[in-house]
Amino acid sequence: ARPVVAIVGRPNVGKSTIFNRLIGDRLAIVEDKPGITRDRIYGTAEWNGVPFSVIDTGGIELSDEEPILKLIRMQAELAIEEADVIVFMCDAKTGVTGADEEVATMLYRSGKPVIVAVNKVDNIGRQDFIYEFYNLGFGEPIGVSGSHGTGIGDLLDAIVENL
Ligand code: GDP
Ligand code: MG
Repeated sequence: ARPVVAIVGRPNVGKSTIFNRLIGDRLAIVEDKPGITRDRIYGTAEWNGVPFSVIDTGGIELSDEEPILKLIRMQAELAIEEADVIVFMCDAKTGVTGADEEVATMLYRSGKPVIVAVNKVDNIGRQDFIYEFYNLGFGEPIGVSGSHGTGIGDLLDAIVENL
């Protein structure tokens, strides 16, 4: 079976945008589980001849009454369970948040390879904003812009190196 890459992170950091950048139009057909819509979250990708699957864990939804932190924890648990490599998506505009630190702790304990991707690096000026993400403890963060498509090649290189 193909190795699996899961994208985790807070709502609105740009997981789905980057997911679409990674898979192009290669959405996978999967059956929904009762109560969980999964059909838009699995896709396939290939880089330098290496094929892999991608999961956008942000596509997993709970009812509106559930707290956001519970949702993020569930998504991180799914990623830890299913993924060979985890892309931890963060946001250069907000910087590191408490929820990011919480997710980082869960991912760190999993022992799985984690790549920190800092999205919304839309211009050279924002490149400086990625350094604080070193503090999450997963090595060099990769700046990307889902809007512009920049940094995606570097992210794909890092993914394939860790598969
Ligand atoms: P998700 O909730 O993590 O899946 O995030 P989405 O992919 O839905 O994106 C959330 C919002 O951020 C949307 O309004 C996107 O248009 C915006 N967004 C995504 N990528 C970028 C980016 O690289 N730069 C900027 N400025 N906005 C972005
Ligand atoms: Mg999304």
